Amino acid sequence: MEQYDCVVVGAGPGGSVFARNAARKGLKTLMIEKESFPRYKACGGGLTLAVKNLLDFDYSFLIERKVGGVAFVSHDEAEIVSYPDSMPIEMIDRSEFDHYLARQAVSAGAVLIEKTKVVSVTESLDDVVIETQNGDAISALVAVGADGARSVVARAAGFDRGYGGIAIETELFPRDPGIVDEHGGHTVFGFGFIPTDGYGWIFPKKDHFSVGIGTGSARMPGLASMYRKFIERFDFLKDADEEQRRGWFIPYCKSSEIINTRRICLVGDSGHLVDPFSGEGIYHAILSGIIGADIVSEELGEKGYLSRQYSREIKKRIMRDFMFSRWCSEIYYKAPSYFYRKNRVIQALTRLARKEIQYKHVLNELRKAR
Ligand SMILES: Cc1cc2nc3c(=O)[nH]c(=O)nc-3n(C[C@H](O)[C@H](O)[C@H](O)COP(=O)(O)OP(=O)(O)OC[C@H]3O[C@@H](n4cnc5c(N)ncnc54)[C@H](O)[C@@H]3O)c2cc1C
Repeated sequence: MEQYDCVVVGAGPGGSVFARNAARKGLKTLMIEKESFPRYKACGGGLTLAVKNLLDFDYSFLIERKVGGVAFVSHDEAEIVSYPDSMPIEMIDRSEFDHYLARQAVSAGAVLIEKTKVVSVTESLDDVVIETQNGDAISALVAVGADGARSVVARAAGFDRGYGGIAIETELFPRDPGIVDEHGGHTVFGFGFIPTDGYGWIFPKKDHFSVGIGTGSARMPGLASMYRKFIERFDFLKDADEEQRRGWFIPYCKSSEIINTRRICLVGDSGHLVDPFSGEGIYHAILSGIIGADIVSEELGEKGYLSRQYSREIKKRIMRDFMFSRWCSEIYYKAPSYFYRKNRVIQALTRLARKEIQYKHVLNELRKAR
């Protein structure tokens, strides 16, 4: 049986960044990806500016549009509330971005196998065995679950927390390409189009809009018609050609939990590391990949297996502030317009997106803004 130090299941941002960093630390690292690159991933493709602080290589040539402003729309109000210089987001195409991150991992020495699905993961005291759909079995000292919201690895490790919330993502191409530039200065967030928590978004890209709607609820019958109502609100989306329509899960972090065993650790969506308020997941997938590679390399060197150090570090650096994010979410959905009409709060969210402050500070600003 082939042997590796780390087998990373899934080559999204979390998996590729883990694999790159692990390979650079001298760990024999294999990534197994069920699709072949470039592959479509249902995602708005919005990166907060803090992402670039995490990566030690340039990806600026992949940024399709820097969107400097934000606008809020409520289903029952005609007015659009906009802030021209707030909450900037850099827009990428996930198929290109993820492909590039995977190539970075390969250049660092990781091996990538594409078009191969992992079907089972079996942990024992001394190793973990990863089996693929082709019947191949590979042994590793550590298996990394980077296989997203429906993680086979998370289930194998006993961390079955469901799939989280759900969302629909589409790529809309206006017949007149000038429309994207005309409306390209703002991301748009729409509220009240879903009866519970959740929102719609419009992210302007190079030549089209990534448009979607999502909720933290695990089931939402009628989501497609809520999506339709949301886009009908915008004249500039009328007659646009729809190129993709995918539904997918968003595993919002619901509580601080353990996400590793002796020989398995979870990064990104497989560990439910999506911000429960904003739905941001790429930043946390990358950050957990970095933290994971550091700790796995250290602990394999020291004792040959994992303690709970990785879970502790993720709790400290990611999950702890998500508790405050959940509180923000609760307050927000009671009265969204109260929230987004306060300049003070929007400025706090802008600083939060740069990771200059945390959600606990946003809550303070909310109190002051009353
Ligand atoms: C509709 C929607 C819009 C979103 N918009 C944004 C946004 O604008 N900004 C943001 O920051 N976050 C956004 N998110 C969240 C973000 O997409 C995820 O948090 C992020 O992709 C997590 O990265 P990851 O590497 O953990 O997992 P993924 O990106 O999901 O990658 C998992 C990889 O594993 C592979 N895989 C799965 N199962 C197997 C298997 N059994 N064997 C082998 N390979 C496997 C998959 O093919 C995939 O390549 C959005 C999510 C959704 C659903």
